[in-house]
Amino acid sequence: MKLGAHISISAPFSDAISRASDSGSECMQIFVNAPQRWAPQTIPEKEIAKFVALNKKADINPIIIHSIYLINLASDNPFFYQASIKSLIDDMEKAEKIGALGVNFHLGSTKGKKFSEVLDKIVVAIKMILAATEKSFLILENSAGAGDIIGDKFEELSEIINAVKSDRLKVTLDTAHAFASGYNLATDDGLEKTLAEFDKFIGLEKLVCLHLNDSAVELGSNRDRHAEIGDGKIGLEAFRRIVNHSKLCDLPGIIETPGIKDRTGIDSLTILKSLRK
Ligand SMILES: [Zn+2]
Ligand SMILES: [Zn+2]
Repeated sequence: MKLGAHISISAPFSDAISRASDSGSECMQIFVNAPQRWAPQTIPEKEIAKFVALNKKADINPIIIHSIYLINLASDNPFFYQASIKSLIDDMEKAEKIGALGVNFHLGSTKGKKFSEVLDKIVVAIKMILAATEKSFLILENSAGAGDIIGDKFEELSEIINAVKSDRLKVTLDTAHAFASGYNLATDDGLEKTLAEFDKFIGLEKLVCLHLNDSAVELGSNRDRHAEIGDGKIGLEAFRRIVNHSKLCDLPGIIETPGIKDRTGIDSLTILKSLRK
C-alpha cells in the first residue's frame, strides 16, 4: 500500500510537493479550496505548472483532492445546494489540471428527512458534476453516521452509485468512520466481513482510496473522532492487517490526523509504513 498524509497547501501552492516529500508521503491528499468557505480560491496558473513539474520528480501519486467541508448535496436550501455543486465542479477542474485522481467528498446531511426523500436530489447533483467535467473521479467518502449525516452504511452509498451509473463515481473507505458506523475493522473476522459487505453492496472495484485513521470512539458509536494509528480502538494489529491485505494493498492509504504521537514521538505515517510486509 502506498501511504501518505493530508498535506497543507499554504501559499505558494507548489510547496505542497516538498512538504509531502518531507513528511515521507508516497501519495497525498490536499484541499484546493479553503475548507470552510464557499467562494472558490484561485490558484495561479504558474503555481499549478510548478506543482506539476515538481511532482514529475517527486512522483507523489496518486493525489486526492478533499472537497470543502460545507458540501451538502441533500440541502433544501437552493443556495447551499447550488454552491455545493459549484464547489465540487471547481475541485474537479483543479483535479484535472494538477493530475489528481479525483475529488473525495462528504455527501452531507438529510437534516431530519429520510434518505429516500433526498436520494434524487443527490443523484441529480452528482450527475451534473460528472457531466460538467471530463476525467477525474468523484469519490464518495463513507461517514461515521452522526445525526442525519449521509453515507455511513454501504447500502446507502450503493443506492447512490446504482442510480448515477458512472464509471467515474468511486468510493473512499475511512477506517475511523467505518468503525464508528459499526463495521468492526479491529478484528480479522470483522475486516473480512466488512470487505465482503462492501463488495456485495458497492463492489470492491469502486474502492479507490483508504483514509487510515484510528478511532477515538467505540465501535458503532456514530461519532467522528479520529485517533493516531495505534492510539485508538481499532489498534495497531488491525492496521497491520489492513495495509497488507491482498484486496487493499494496491490502494493509496491517507492519514488525516496531525500525525504526531505524544507517547513515542513517532508519527502515524512512520508507524503505518513499519507495518508493511
Ligand atoms: Zn476521511
Ligand atoms: Zn472523520
